Amino acid sequence: MLKTSEAYRKSVREQKPIVYIGGKRVEDLFANSTTRSVIDATAKIYDIAFEHEEIMTAYSHLTGEKINRSLHVNRDVEDLKKRAEMALLTSQKIGTCNYRCVGCDAITALASVTWEMDRSLGTHYHERFNEYLQYLQDNDLACTGAMTDAKGDRSKRPLEQEDRDVYLHISERRKDGIVVRGAKVNQSGAIAANETIVIVGQALRKGEEDFAIAFAVPNGSKGITYICQYTPFTAERNEAEDLLELGNPLFGLRETSLMVFEDVFIPWERVFMCGEVEFSRHLVSRFAKIHRMNCGGACKVGFADLIIGATQLLVEYNGIEKIPQVREKITDMIALSETARACTWASAFKGIEEPIGSGVYLPDDMFGNIAKLNIAHGFWEMMKIAGDMAGGLVVTMPSERELKNPETKAYIEKYYKTKVPAYKRMRITKFLQHWIAGQHGPGTWHGAGPVQAQRVMVERLANLEEKKRLAKELAGLKD
Ligand SMILES: Cc1cc2nc3c(=O)[nH]c(=O)nc-3n(C[C@H](O)[C@H](O)[C@H](O)COP(=O)(O)OP(=O)(O)OC[C@H]3O[C@@H](n4cnc5c(N)ncnc54)[C@H](O)[C@@H]3O)c2cc1C
Repeated sequence: MLKTSEAYRKSVREQKPIVYIGGKRVEDLFANSTTRSVIDATAKIYDIAFEHEEIMTAYSHLTGEKINRSLHVNRDVEDLKKRAEMALLTSQKIGTCNYRCVGCDAITALASVTWEMDRSLGTHYHERFNEYLQYLQDNDLACTGAMTDAKGDRSKRPLEQEDRDVYLHISERRKDGIVVRGAKVNQSGAIAANETIVIVGQALRKGEEDFAIAFAVPNGSKGITYICQYTPFTAERNEAEDLLELGNPLFGLRETSLMVFEDVFIPWERVFMCGEVEFSRHLVSRFAKIHRMNCGGACKVGFADLIIGATQLLVEYNGIEKIPQVREKITDMIALSETARACTWASAFKGIEEPIGSGVYLPDDMFGNIAKLNIAHGFWEMMKIAGDMAGGLVVTMPSERELKNPETKAYIEKYYKTKVPAYKRMRITKFLQHWIAGQHGPGTWHGAGPVQAQRVMVERLANLEEKKRLAKELAGLKD
């Protein structure tokens, strides 16, 4: 079933999560301008499903019904391609996180790993997971994904931590389910989701069974507290008289929260891994494999399209679009972004069924990692060029409110006018400021895992022995 954005908004109104932002409790997520931007962005994803059905919808392998692709398990290469297209499209349309993205990739990773666990261990996780998935699909629920633990001292394993709560873990095993304690950090959009799928944050070893968990939890469950990020953009949005003063007026920045689990009860029917440390590595790596293609690759290419488009508009507004070095710099931006786009597509096209027999498809690991690695570096480079082209105004611009102030309006119009009136130049400069003087650089670097994680994977996946053999053969070197 496909739900309308209105039905989604209604579902959020019925939830009663405990949410804090800027040191204060948010009683009504619709009344706070920042939490509202998360609802508006998620609602827009529901709208886009009707506007672009060819990309945004799929047919459930469980029921045959048309569903939102955010709740679909990738069943072939075509699905992987559409999944990446969805990430690209949603980024282009909302210029912020598709808050259903992490949950979507956790679904495919869990479908693959639960199938394998049942086969190896004789458990019933896959059947249980499919029942839960059908519930999500039947109700078209907004589902986020929680993986990143707080982690405490990074040099220590979970059991060595002074406070073991820095890794989400089982605090009690009961007849009817488990009780979990700890927290997940940087949770994109979780405050306004209907559900969160929680998976283990890293590969675990024998003895660390309490940390090897995967489960699903409804928003507003007893014991969960969300503490939202607070940035200069939060303050700016709070203070805005008109949303059009902001860089991304409707959908804002990528909003996350610290999600605290204070002894939260999870019934067995929502538990998809419970102590199977030997499968934790598979869950983490399969999630990373698919998420790097989407969040690491396609999504950021969508953002890059917006940055490049805004930069081109600005150079045209400023009258420098025909100058050769300006065209060269815009071309450099395109080359950076298209390289990541190509790796994203390659990752989807080279996808394979994993494990064989599961019916679940995952993208090519090397190309997915390379897509993320390229865009993490390329994004900073693109922002550098955009900042160069935009001129100092991108960080020195007065408020657009001055255009409504009779005492300053004439000065602003006179001195910020270029080939176009001041308001146009200021609007698109503000849009660019949101990207290049904002938080998307570090966000792109860390989202889907920090760059070092991709380097490790690339080194592991590259067949250096074969490359050495080829070189030696042609150079006439014998061992
Ligand atoms: C905008 C944004 C949205 C996000 N959304 C989500 C989400 O929805 N769900 C979710 O689960 N996560 C989400 N994340 C989390 C993201 O995946 C993590 O931020 C990322 O994995 C890095 O983890 P960390 O922030 O704890 O940094 P750290 O792990 O502390 O890493 C910081 C640096 O330290 C290095 N480092 C850390 N530990 C070691 C070690 N033992 N040895 C050597 N080097 C080390 C890392 O390589 C990195 O360079 C989001 C992040 C961002 C920025």
